[in-house]
Amino acid sequence: MKAEIFSVGTEILLGEILDTNAKHIANELANMGIDVFYKTSVGDNENRLLDAIDIAYKRADIIISTGGLGPTDDDLTKETFAKYFNKKLVTHQESLQNLKSYFLNEDMPLSNLKQADMPEGSIVLLNENGTASGCVIQENNKIAVILPGPPNECIPMFEKQVKPILEKYTNKVLVSKSLNLCGIGESKASEIIKDMMLSSKNPTIAPYAGNNEMRFRVTASGKTKEEAKEILKPTVDNLYEIFKEYIYGEDNDTLQEVIVNKLIKNNMTISTAESCTGGLLASTIINVASASKVFLNGVISYSNESKIYELNVCKEDLEKYGAVSEQVAIQMAEGIRKKSNTTIGISTTGIAGPTGGTNEKPVGLVYIAIAINGKDTICKKLMLKGDRQKIREKTVHICFSNLLKLV
Ligand code: ATP
Repeated sequence: MKAEIFSVGTEILLGEILDTNAKHIANELANMGIDVFYKTSVGDNENRLLDAIDIAYKRADIIISTGGLGPTDDDLTKETFAKYFNKKLVTHQESLQNLKSYFLNEDMPLSNLKQADMPEGSIVLLNENGTASGCVIQENNKIAVILPGPPNECIPMFEKQVKPILEKYTNKVLVSKSLNLCGIGESKASEIIKDMMLSSKNPTIAPYAGNNEMRFRVTASGKTKEEAKEILKPTVDNLYEIFKEYIYGEDNDTLQEVIVNKLIKNNMTISTAESCTGGLLASTIINVASASKVFLNGVISYSNESKIYELNVCKEDLEKYGAVSEQVAIQMAEGIRKKSNTTIGISTTGIAGPTGGTNEKPVGLVYIAIAINGKDTICKKLMLKGDRQKIREKTVHICFSNLLKLV
């Protein structure tokens, strides 16, 4: 079975946006054993799209298209495929309902109504994250899968609704598991299992680099879900063995969730004293639903005065070593822990830039400290690269990866 991926939209054609939909879909199709020999980028133009469809069906059985399902006149993907297959567009009631509920609190522009018109006889794919339904047209052994452009709409639709349809054609069921790692980069981790990744065809192992983290996605195919799970297991076990000190969770687990859950489990509480991260650390912890059970207090102590008055940092040490120093980071962590009466106090102080750096203390120099009741306070000196936001985000991530080892 051969597929061709279509990325429809002038923005894609002009290089204004990266075609991340095609990347994701191509990867998944490869895992499913569906060959992709061509990818097509085509602008929002009916004639050129019709030509492209014609060419693609000479060399492929399935076209998977993303983009051009919006409400405006130049969004014409669905209309053009319907024309190609000689299908009328008819109102799909559930899509209309979905549209109306999306605009519950505001007037829906009339132009949006066309997003509920679907090619007659097609399988409609409801959109959980937007207004444009997708659809699957099956005609004369040719299949068109038509998906919206925004990745947060397209990818979940592909994963949840399209894959099960494609599995019927391939007679294969896919099962995937992601192992989420921190404390090791994508290139280093991939290097360690380079041979394994090259030789393992079922399951496949794919590395993904995320924001300061990485994950391996292991995907097995089998005739049944059970068979695929059996095929998956030894490789997952093997990866656990190799990366045991780095794997913190699976699938949708986030580092902060894992930490909050560990704190809850171990009856521990936490407080934060932040200078350069300005509340980002506390906010990331609080993003976890059950954080109130463990997070008791957070102080943004940006000025020297606040470090002295809020956290009891020694004035002389501040003058002697400076606010960005090991001594001050440690006193901040211990100060907030005592003040908040928590098991853990964690602090950040650093130079996030772009100004404020010196030869001795350049931009990117950050200290983090973690004080744990009854243990020696640990302090880490970091030299981080990137802009102000990146440095702050990396600092928070490193706080979490250090906490992970301690709680
Ligand atoms: P909308 O309902 O928002 O109009 P649409 O289905 O018409 O969506 P487009 O208008 O083609 O989709 O694209 C909307 C946005 O989705 C683009 O501005 C871009 O940010 C993103 N997008 C579209 N196609 C892709 C793609 N292939 N890869 C990554 N992002 C994409």
